[in-house]
Amino acid sequence: MNDEQSQNAASRRLMTELQSRGLRLVDPGAGAASRRGGAGPSDHKAVTVDGHTIMVPVHTATSRHSPFLALPPDAAGMSELRFDGNAVARIGFPRQPRFYALQTFDGVPYQHIATLHGADVLATTVLQTCIRYASRHKTCRFCAIGQSLAAGRTIAHKTPEQLAEVARAAVLLDGVKHMVMTTGTPNLTDRGAAVLCESAFAIKAAVELPLQGQCEPPDDDRWFERMKAAGIDTLGMHLEAVTPAVRARIMPGKATVPLSRYMDAFAAAACVFGRGQVSTYILAGLGDTPAAILEMCERLIALGVYPFVVPFVPISGTPLESQPAPTAEFMRAVLEPLGAALERHGLRSRDIKAGCGRCGACSSLSVYES
Ligand code: SF4
Repeated sequence: MNDEQSQNAASRRLMTELQSRGLRLVDPGAGAASRRGGAGPSDHKAVTVDGHTIMVPVHTATSRHSPFLALPPDAAGMSELRFDGNAVARIGFPRQPRFYALQTFDGVPYQHIATLHGADVLATTVLQTCIRYASRHKTCRFCAIGQSLAAGRTIAHKTPEQLAEVARAAVLLDGVKHMVMTTGTPNLTDRGAAVLCESAFAIKAAVELPLQGQCEPPDDDRWFERMKAAGIDTLGMHLEAVTPAVRARIMPGKATVPLSRYMDAFAAAACVFGRGQVSTYILAGLGDTPAAILEMCERLIALGVYPFVVPFVPISGTPLESQPAPTAEFMRAVLEPLGAALERHGLRSRDIKAGCGRCGACSSLSVYES
């Protein structure tokens, strides 16, 4: 191994450890505001390690006892990172975006409409309500989509006009490079595709910004053509867990859409959006073994779908808040062979036009690709 390869291997290890163990902050206000609640992974903060921005848990039970501690940033915005009291690295924090200071004419803070994720991604949850979340028996047990709404940190439905206004400001003021639109599931037919279409259409009319839409597989594959025509460049349909028993236990509502429908939808969507432009989130640490995750990833790669494997973050206030995050060893057992497989098949994070796979902040997967 040459010096550069050793340095890359050390960075990979550090990022995987940080995402697994979390981080304590001497100055919780350092950098951009951390994220609490909401759809998808949360309770974390953007941290830059060796030029890669990753999301690191800072509000979870694990992170409160983490051996990692970040000292307050210096004048250049860099912090000393300590492990068990010993300095191990210098890390940075992306700064608070300028668009957070603005609000719409009717008084909604831009930050309640969309937020900065990672280093240069604008992210929104178009519908902050979900038919799955309405019942404790159907809800995805890891999800906190209702928490930020209940806390008044967001609004229930971001209109197309509001999204277009904020997207334009985030591009002009903060140079965001792409945008992620996820949504709670509003019905059992289009499952969110329709609201993503109207949002994308308005955003693309206001500003040129690569867009990812994220929803459950709609009941009709014609929605993929419609989403593409509306301006959505890449599509995420998130498996979360890969074996039927884990799916049924962790997300009883969403698991009523069977794996077979996901696989058919992936194949159809890849024909529309192109190889590598359809992706799925897989949360490691919910009960699937590394072998089961890797087997599913092989099937997805064969379809041209990018499997974005992310360490599960136990979010406070959810039924899984006490479930431990996966260990760094578990994550390495998945990410090392997966990174090599992605490289072998030419499916790379950097070739994705928009979205979580391109951002790569919620997982250190992309640094295992090279
Ligand atoms: S990977 Fe996706 S959810 Fe994670 S920070 Fe990036 S855009 Fe947000």
